[in-house]
Amino acid sequence: MKPSPHHITNCRRCNARICWALTTAHGKRQPVNAEPTAEGNVAVMQGPDGVLYVRSITKDRPEIRPGEWQAMPHHATCTAPPPRRSGRPGERQRTGVRPVPWQGRQP
Ligand SMILES: [Zn+2]
Repeated sequence: MKPSPHHITNCRRCNARICWALTTAHGKRQPVNAEPTAEGNVAVMQGPDGVLYVRSITKDRPEIRPGEWQAMPHHATCTAPPPRRSGRPGERQRTGVRPVPWQGRQP
């Protein structure tokens, strides 16, 4: 199985092809890589409501069942750095030198 094209979107950070699925455990949205892989540690399936569901592959339930495909959580492979830490080191060291009138002039 593979995700339907209409489930596939792009990661806003690294632009990889992903799909959003709900965890069967908590119902939280989790991005998984759109391309199935045997390396993945989760199984994804489309529910009868058309929503994708993702579950962890565990020792208890290691088998991929009909309708499921094996995928990698996108967190594991996202290549974009987390927001806010993308600045070059050393370039933002000169803060706090100039006193900034942050309130402006008071009447
Ligand atoms: Zn990403």
